[in-house]
Amino acid sequence: MSMIDGLPPLRSVIAEHGLSARKSLGQNFLLDLNLTAKIARQAGDLSACDVLEIGPGPGGLTRGLLAEGARRVLAVEKDSRCLPALAQIADAYPGRLEVLNADALEIDPMAHLTPPVRVVANLPYNVGTELLVRWLTPAFWPPFWQSLTLMFQREVAERIVAPPGGKSYGRLAILAQWRAEARIVMDLPPEAFTPAPKVRSAVVHLTARPEPLHPADPKVLSRVVATAFNQRRKMLRASLRGLAPDIEEHLRRAGIAPTDRAEQVPIEGFCALARALAEA
Ligand code: SAM
Repeated sequence: MSMIDGLPPLRSVIAEHGLSARKSLGQNFLLDLNLTAKIARQAGDLSACDVLEIGPGPGGLTRGLLAEGARRVLAVEKDSRCLPALAQIADAYPGRLEVLNADALEIDPMAHLTPPVRVVANLPYNVGTELLVRWLTPAFWPPFWQSLTLMFQREVAERIVAPPGGKSYGRLAILAQWRAEARIVMDLPPEAFTPAPKVRSAVVHLTARPEPLHPADPKVLSRVVATAFNQRRKMLRASLRGLAPDIEEHLRRAGIAPTDRAEQVPIEGFCALARALAEA
């Protein structure tokens, strides 16, 4: 793709700007532009969208997004060493790339974006889950984003898309699937990154549901789910005892056997329980 965008290969960019990877910033770079273009395509047609990218680093995915036709990209990067490389990309795509040298946890991206917005990122692992949880729990729904196309460690990706009944099913699965449709769209071996991490990675694509899957107050639901999975091996009548004195009654009203364990209960059951508790 260096032929397509006329920019130097990423290895040269890294050498030229001295971008040795820093573990503290979760830096595992993607240097294959065919691969970054493929990740960009998982987000669908971006020609009418602004894209929020967190952690562009030397810009491999940024170049993929722009070459694949994103209307505009806002790239938020904490490491100021990456700015000259990103400025070169901005020059190659006039008016289409804005770079913010900031911590993604500290900014309001909507001050810089025009809807519709999609988020695409090879996230720093140390803040990836925190950002996902924030994007899934805004004050109002639907959120600022139409879809999220995000790289995670494979184990985290599995926890996001997990169905009930297994070890991966928990708070993250319920939070994600209650408000979004989530699926794994790509699987990447450690060697796809420089330096190679210890574990496999996967890209998860989440599309915001117009309405949550079943009605429930988000705060009550979140408390019920957190309490249930805090002691996931216990029966719900024991693990949820602190939520209400007559918890067995509430569980039955929600169609849940009090002897069930948290991982056996589908999202619909947790929503019904949250409604029963809220009514009480
Ligand atoms: N997107 C690039 C790629 O695919 O090659 C780099 C991905 S690397 C896994 C994560 C990037 O996020 C790094 O460039 C790192 O400096 C940046 N980063 C880490 N913490 C950040 C934060 N809190 N806010 C913004 N960027 C951050």
